[in-house]
Amino acid sequence: MTVIKLHDQYFKPYLSEEEILTAVKVMADKVAADYKDETPIFVGVLNGAFMFVSDFLKAYQHPCEVSFVKMSSYAGLTSTGIVETLLDVSENIEDRSVIILEDVIDTGRTLQELIHMFSNINVKEFKIASLFYKSEIYKGEYTIDYVGIEIPDKFIVGYGLDYKELGRNLREVYQLNTKHMINLVLFGKPGAGKGTQAEFLKEKYNLKHISTGDVFRFNIKNNTELGILAQSYMDKGDLVPDEVTIKMLQDEVEKNAEASGFIFDGFPRTTAQAEALDKFLATKDMKIDATIALDANDEILIQRLLERGKVSGRSDDQDESKIRNRFDEYNQKTAPLKDFYEAQGKFHTVNGIGAIDEIAMRLGKVIEEL
Ligand code: AMP
Repeated sequence: MTVIKLHDQYFKPYLSEEEILTAVKVMADKVAADYKDETPIFVGVLNGAFMFVSDFLKAYQHPCEVSFVKMSSYAGLTSTGIVETLLDVSENIEDRSVIILEDVIDTGRTLQELIHMFSNINVKEFKIASLFYKSEIYKGEYTIDYVGIEIPDKFIVGYGLDYKELGRNLREVYQLNTKHMINLVLFGKPGAGKGTQAEFLKEKYNLKHISTGDVFRFNIKNNTELGILAQSYMDKGDLVPDEVTIKMLQDEVEKNAEASGFIFDGFPRTTAQAEALDKFLATKDMKIDATIALDANDEILIQRLLERGKVSGRSDDQDESKIRNRFDEYNQKTAPLKDFYEAQGKFHTVNGIGAIDEIAMRLGKVIEEL
């Protein structure tokens, strides 16, 4: 089982087919212990319970009848509170034992409607069997008679349950991925060691590393439209225009929507980019958790970059005047982001001078304390 996407949302595996079927069998056995000597009427609640009803009946090998009601109180991810009854059970149920088969009971509104519906009919016994039960949020007075699996208050799909009508045919149950992500911004001048440290952090915390500089270089190498556009700026050590960079960054995040978090390296570099990033992440129910600056002085950085330029062949690392221009760009456009993130209480600084693993430890300490 892997993360799946339905419409615009991601869902992670929650219950396997085997776990569900085991719970269904246990329920059927319990009901059988109480009703096998009569012929109860099982009333499935459509649409969500169709799969549960089917497996329940396969596990319930005693005389019984089956009928359905159709109700609905969900629109998308949230319960609307409006319960519609679309099909009524009315015939032949007086003096019979009725057992409602529900897929999930959460607040209990649907259940209340069902209880109300049956309160006018003189049934012998009225019982509720729910495969899933969100006890944390159940507000009803009725005590559920048979419960399959108690689940937390998280939106689930699969095994009959849908998200905007998709996912009903899944054999397993998935939970909405409300992502306990860590999203980090690595901050610091060119040469501060952002890329080096990102390599270490991405392994340790299972994060996706997005380096805007690397993405630009990849595009330049492959001669894409974006690469051709970015090259003239990069060659001079200037920043690529915001709208181009922001769009590219958004594409990178969307391509990796399954990631358990991101390390943004070289982005944001302007206040406009930082604002766009916050806004964009909010649309994905995500946020920046911390911005960590790697601190080092200019003379050390220039030495590092010139060394790196010899090895990598990066032209912007080989010429001191271009490096100084990148520092000027940083001081003018990027340094003000310190205030931006400090105002949000997210700015941290670590000493970026020392051995790579020493610096990694300093970063790790900041992250652990988040
Ligand atoms: P880097 O590898 O992060 O040092 O980036 C190399 C170059 O790519 C920079 O000097 C800019 O020309 C360009 N670049 C990278 N990230 C950005 C960004 N967030 N905004 C604008 N330009 C960028």
